[in-house]
Amino acid sequence: MPPPLPSAIITRREDITPDLWKIWLKSEIPFKFKPGQYCTIGFDDVERAYSIVSSPYEEQIELFIELVPPPFGNLTPLLYELGVGRQVTIRPRAKGIFTLDERYSHHLMMSTVTGVVPYVSILRSYFHDFRSGHRFYVLEGVSYTDEFGYDMELARMAQAHPNVVTFMPTVSRPQEERNQGWEGQTGRVNTLLEKYVERFGLDRDDTLIYACGHPGMIEDVKARAAALDFLVQEERFWKVS
Ligand SMILES: Cc1cc2nc3c(=O)[nH]c(=O)nc-3n(C[C@H](O)[C@H](O)[C@H](O)COP(=O)(O)OP(=O)(O)OC[C@H]3O[C@@H](n4cnc5c(N)ncnc54)[C@H](O)[C@@H]3O)c2cc1C
Repeated sequence: MPPPLPSAIITRREDITPDLWKIWLKSEIPFKFKPGQYCTIGFDDVERAYSIVSSPYEEQIELFIELVPPPFGNLTPLLYELGVGRQVTIRPRAKGIFTLDERYSHHLMMSTVTGVVPYVSILRSYFHDFRSGHRFYVLEGVSYTDEFGYDMELARMAQAHPNVVTFMPTVSRPQEERNQGWEGQTGRVNTLLEKYVERFGLDRDDTLIYACGHPGMIEDVKARAAALDFLVQEERFWKVS
């Protein structure tokens, strides 16, 4: 029998909407990762991958999770019931290659909802290390304004470092009651690719486009980026069956 997996305790939980929440985990083993990588956590022998929000400098592992309700979701309905003090398993090694590609100086980071997670980790680490020489443009798309999760933090980064970070949140259903008062960008994030490539004056030779989250968004970003001759690095959170 394989040895039991290490455990991690939930030390904090913050509910963002009825189906989006953040948790902070304290792992019983030292857990090393690079910004942009993911961990594999489990409960009742069901395991799934979660990109890590926190930077490697933080003591706890922060995750931003979307509930996939039953009967479709398997792990998230179980995780949703877990409050502070409960335990999950954690695979000892982080995985993933969705990390900052240092060969480029400009990084156009496209995401849907929880897809913003790896970018937050990359940017937290970048500022922690007092790095320079890179330019980040984070475009995040949601259906409803309360789904952003990290909009305040990204807006603060952009305000404090206007020559390093630009944050552009967009809402795809502006006409709905829940989005009342939204005066920002509207439309699905993928449909804005060409507009912002032009507005930011991005050059294909020193810009990498990242796409993370909804597989449909990623497919469309790849098609649009290919038409402009830009390269895309992708992280799909699930498969379309
Ligand atoms: C590298 C990687 C990083 C990930 N990071 C995150 C993260 O930071 N936050 C996060 O919430 N999830 C993340 N995911 C998705 C996560 O691993 C689970 O798939 C998700 O939480 C659903 O798990 P589940 O067991 O409840 O449903 P599953 O049993 O995994 O899926 C059930 C069905 O729902 C579909 N599905 C899965 N997720 C979604 C979704 N979000 N919306 C609509 N349909 C979906 C699947 O295609 C499947 O048909 C990541 C996935 C990968 C591969």
